[in-house]
Amino acid sequence: MPVTRKLAWDEQFQQWRCSGCAWVFEPHALFGDQSLNKYFDVVRRDEEFAAHVCDDYRKDGKA
Ligand SMILES: [Zn+2]
Repeated sequence: MPVTRKLAWDEQFQQWRCSGCAWVFEPHALFGDQSLNKYFDVVRRDEEFAAHVCDDYRKDGKA
């Protein structure tokens, strides 16, 4: 069964999350240059969001 999901900005926790499950994007400080870091985080965010499986991040914690 297809699950409708999208990348959503969580104002409360100041982080990107999935609208369909409990997945959140965790930024990493890979570069000293923040502008460069920001660029790669955006690319990585989109890739990780596309790659994650909602069933692995269920909000209720049940398998
Ligand atoms: Zn998800």
